[in-house]
Amino acid sequence: MKLTILGNNGGYPKGNGACSGYLLENEKVQVIFDLGSGTLSNLLSINDGTQLDAIFITHLHWDHISDLFVLQYLLEKRGQVLPLYLPRTPENIYDILSNIKNFDVHPIDDGDEVAIKNMKFSFKKMRHPVETYAIKAIDDRGHSCLYTGDTGICQELKDFAQDAHTLLCDCTYVNNPDENKHLSAEQAAEIAENAGVRHLILTHFDPEVNPRDYAIIAERILRRGRVTKSEIMLTFNI
Ligand SMILES: [Zn+2]
Ligand SMILES: [Zn+2]
Repeated sequence: MKLTILGNNGGYPKGNGACSGYLLENEKVQVIFDLGSGTLSNLLSINDGTQLDAIFITHLHWDHISDLFVLQYLLEKRGQVLPLYLPRTPENIYDILSNIKNFDVHPIDDGDEVAIKNMKFSFKKMRHPVETYAIKAIDDRGHSCLYTGDTGICQELKDFAQDAHTLLCDCTYVNNPDENKHLSAEQAAEIAENAGVRHLILTHFDPEVNPRDYAIIAERILRRGRVTKSEIMLTFNI
């Protein structure tokens, strides 16, 4: 499978940047993980969206969903309906999204599994101020990619990350993480090292911080795998 970074900032995008959004695809399946501010434009520069199978949303914070609200106009124009998987809370935001007629909405629960052609997706609840899920994708060759969404440090993530080939990981703080919200570079690298991850891709950067600062810390800790800082439109083979 192939992973393309559509956005890598947390909260709000820096100039010419974009918030969380990722395209995961293989020869049969195309899905999106989150669709934050600026990511739809980046997607449309490489993919017209007509072959998308689904969009998976980790949680209903604006920096992960804001471009869904404009995507609806594109879908409406084409008469296209897209499966949209998302948490049930906060209810007021879930209700708005489930009333958009061009989305075929499926709520996510902890432990759920969804199969789309030759890929399987599973969901594990993480630690964040709103209901949020990490997503693990596995293809029919056994290759796996785990996207953490936003999360503070938790045992659920350490367990879920075991043996993932690629870990696309929240890395909001250089130092001093808020354990109820997000991970630091050090925590991301420790999780990857202990789980035997081959490739750690850091993302959800503070727009005021140089991504190099996170990578330098993570590279010191991760010995068994490699570290990459996400960059918009960068593509990785998994
Ligand atoms: Zn976020
Ligand atoms: Zn969040």
